[in-house]
Amino acid sequence: TTFSELGVHKFYIKGLKELNIVKPTEIQEIAIPILLESKTDLIGLAQTGTGKTAAFGLPVLHTIDPNNSDVQALIIAPTRELVQQIQKQLFRFTKYIDHKIFAEGVYGGEKIDKQIQNLKRTTHIVVATPGRLLDLVERGAVDISKVKTLVLDEADEMLSMGFKEDLNKILKFNTSRRQTWLFSATMPDEIKSIIKNYMSPNAARV
Ligand code: AMP
Repeated sequence: TTFSELGVHKFYIKGLKELNIVKPTEIQEIAIPILLESKTDLIGLAQTGTGKTAAFGLPVLHTIDPNNSDVQALIIAPTRELVQQIQKQLFRFTKYIDHKIFAEGVYGGEKIDKQIQNLKRTTHIVVATPGRLLDLVERGAVDISKVKTLVLDEADEMLSMGFKEDLNKILKFNTSRRQTWLFSATMPDEIKSIIKNYMSPNAARV
């Protein structure tokens, strides 16, 4: 199978090739067609190194209207390192597309003023750690009311790092109008309750 056959737009194929991403991994082969086909919630049981970033990242990119400057997608991850990795991958995937899609990474432990400044530029996708994201939302530096897609990456890690309250607050925003994609290596009860409280009972499972 090729990424084109999965429905990935030809704009992305060259950028993927440069990263030696040519043959989809298992999770990419299963998740990408589901996520490209229609709006849906999705629960992905996946470890790191399986290619899950592209499995959700490429479909996220396909949902963005580059002519609209709203924040349209939110990707939440537990650590600064992971946020940076995701942002970097999105940047590389979009190297050859016609209309620029802008993803901004925000995380704790870094000066917030700089991040507030950066967010004043057009930002289609915010990649963030939970605490810093909430801080920025509360200061009015990010408007997440137009978000169409919310991705939780390494959800179990975020819970074990103590981000449960923050995640609950984030998940309470415009629940009905968005799709939510949750990725986790394990499915403890706390994850199951997030799924039950904030996701569709018809969520796809991969
Ligand atoms: P991830 O699991 O998303 O953190 O990805 C792990 C690594 O695998 C990253 O360096 C990706 O660039 C790479 N990767 C992702 N998908 C593929 C693929 N289909 N073929 C080869 N490498 C890939």
